[in-house]
Amino acid sequence: MAALHHQAAAAPVTTTTTTTEGGELRAMDLYEKLEKVGEGTYGKVYKAREKATGRIVALKKTRLPEDDEGVPPTALREVSLLRMLSQDSHVVRLLDLKQGQNKEGQTILYLVFEYMDTDLKKFIRAHRQNLQKIPVPTVKILMYQLCKGVAFCHGRGVLHRDLKPHNLLMDRKTMALKIADLGLSRSFTVPLKKYTHEILTLWYRAPEVLLGAAHYSTPVDIWSVGCIFAELATTQPLFAGDSEVQQLLHIFKLLGTPNEQVWPGVSKLPNWHEYPQWNPSKVSDLVHGLDADALDLLEKMLQYEPSKRISAKKAMEHPYFNDVNKELY
Ligand code: AMP
Repeated sequence: MAALHHQAAAAPVTTTTTTTEGGELRAMDLYEKLEKVGEGTYGKVYKAREKATGRIVALKKTRLPEDDEGVPPTALREVSLLRMLSQDSHVVRLLDLKQGQNKEGQTILYLVFEYMDTDLKKFIRAHRQNLQKIPVPTVKILMYQLCKGVAFCHGRGVLHRDLKPHNLLMDRKTMALKIADLGLSRSFTVPLKKYTHEILTLWYRAPEVLLGAAHYSTPVDIWSVGCIFAELATTQPLFAGDSEVQQLLHIFKLLGTPNEQVWPGVSKLPNWHEYPQWNPSKVSDLVHGLDADALDLLEKMLQYEPSKRISAKKAMEHPYFNDVNKELY
């Protein structure tokens, strides 16, 4: 998550501090860990029960940089942003924050979130493994909620920068979708690897980021939303590269190698090279299972030139969503 405008982070933040020795234990006195449910970019996520209320929560344990004393102000600013954003019904709700130290004296932040029973990665995988398509109306309501959540973040001056099915949480029963993993990426800088050394996925990364643009903005998230849209329709990732160069080549092969005509300034970007020349394919040939309105929206999300990409707010008004009961979301 990155703040575009720092005024957005004005809300004060307090952490419940569990001091020095045994801090980790004390945070755990309040919650009973039930099972590990996932691993995010910054740490493990547990399903846990709040002992006082019995409420089921998701507990995200985050280690802060080792050379820092206490919680860095940048991290606190990010948490305050997260608190502000989690007022939206399409952003996972941050319920509480606990600070402690482990035996090695490292500062640990426990972020306590509302618990969601699955994520979009698991949901897509289940359909793919059963050779099932995700029903067309389901794709549409998931996409509408995603656009709405992203529009809310962008409207508050916040970029996500790492939108992917893995950090879109879902409720299987209601099909509610909520954006997660909004926290702390700024204070930790955008990592290339997870803390477990697992490589981060590049599949949803916008071409301007891959090409090393120093300045980028909200369109990077829209690119990711477009990739997720295509994956919902087909259950297969649209551009599945395993290195930055491979990722770019995948994109170029399908959408055509960009040039100064379609994307003025592209050849000045730091990682630009002479790439093989591919002609663009029609989006309708790349992604099956979408109607004409859906393809039109997808094409607007996958524009090379970032300023030409549709905004999240405009996407919500696209004819594709005309038959969505917007009051429900
Ligand atoms: P994240 O660090 O947010 O990317 O989370 C990593 C994984 O942990 C997700 O893909 C989910 O499987 C799980 N997870 C994260 N947050 C929650 C939550 N609030 N409720 C349930 N599972 C979660």
